[in-house]
Amino acid sequence: MSAKQEVILSGIRPTGRLHYGNYFGAVQHFLRLQDAPATCYYFIADYHALTTIAGRRDIRAQTIDMLRTYIACGLDPARSIVYRQSDLPCTAELALLLGMITNIGHLERGTTYKDKFIKLKEDPKSEGNPLSYGLLGYPVLMAADILIVKADLVPVGDDQRQHVEMACDIAEKFNSRFGAEVLHIPRAVDRSALRLPGLDGSQKMGKSDNNTLDLLDDAATVLKKMKGVPTTTDPAPLDTDSTDPDVVIPKMPAGVGVLYRLLSLVAPQEVYLDYIRQYRDGGKFYGTLKKSLAEYCTAFNAPIIEKFNDPQYSDDFIEDFLRENAKRVTPVALDTVESCREAMGIGRSLYRG
Ligand code: ATP
Ligand code: MG
Repeated sequence: MSAKQEVILSGIRPTGRLHYGNYFGAVQHFLRLQDAPATCYYFIADYHALTTIAGRRDIRAQTIDMLRTYIACGLDPARSIVYRQSDLPCTAELALLLGMITNIGHLERGTTYKDKFIKLKEDPKSEGNPLSYGLLGYPVLMAADILIVKADLVPVGDDQRQHVEMACDIAEKFNSRFGAEVLHIPRAVDRSALRLPGLDGSQKMGKSDNNTLDLLDDAATVLKKMKGVPTTTDPAPLDTDSTDPDVVIPKMPAGVGVLYRLLSLVAPQEVYLDYIRQYRDGGKFYGTLKKSLAEYCTAFNAPIIEKFNDPQYSDDFIEDFLRENAKRVTPVALDTVESCREAMGIGRSLYRG
């Protein structure tokens, strides 16, 4: 008998266009994992999108566009199971059950919630949804997303690592209360996961933060965005002979660091090293660096944009695809929810049989 295949799960919110942080923090890893002998589930987190969207937005259309971008990046619809979170409504039921054993204090320490809390304190009129029950419970819903498919591995960017750890905690607590083997505990996220800063020099590039370099940006947009990155003509000394991006970039002024991080991701290594040398030498070179980086990013985007516009991936194609995949993931999800109901003492659903 062959061993059980590894189960891989990752999600993305349909809150805007895919950016370089999403790509190098997450998507790149799932493209690689497609080649592993594993069951890969990728979902578009449309319920999660509601935690930050204040008014009505066409989340359905955004979901379809997000999936089209996934495919344009190289996600192979034949090798992965890609579904829409809301097409698996038993995830919401599992989140409800898990919510019964999750302490509020634990959730209040969640970074997403804490950041929003601080932002609202500083600026009570700040845009978007106010502090909601949904935002506080985001990690519980994310735990349900992960646990419902019995995932082993959750490839996400560094910003989501804490949420995966919370999912492990919740599952362990559930098992210790209701039965040792009910929920499958995933592995923790790799410590070397990337967090790409925003083009404004802030800690994180994010779809909802207006500071992104997008995979669908054309040449003119890329150049304009590069020119807007805040740089200083006074580079801080690196104080090291290392050229490792993880060592030198934290020593640079924030905006400059973003440029070098991007360069290390999309340009040949000798180009990156040459610009590190120029940094050490001082002088005015940011204009050339930005232009050259813009060219590498434009070349990176070109095939993605072309595939995104391929008429083969019509709305109907994508919807049929999502419908089929929702059917494929439903049995494992129902099995998890029903086991949890039984373990907690409610018993199996009479309606589902
Ligand atoms: P939003 O601002 O709406 O939350 P987002 O840009 O943070 O959007 P998500 O859909 O929340 O994107 O996350 C999708 C995946 O991309 C996750 O695995 C997340 O860890 C990863 N990711 C998002 N931003 C970055 C970033 N700046 N660096 C590395 N990974 C990132
Ligand atoms: Mg996010």
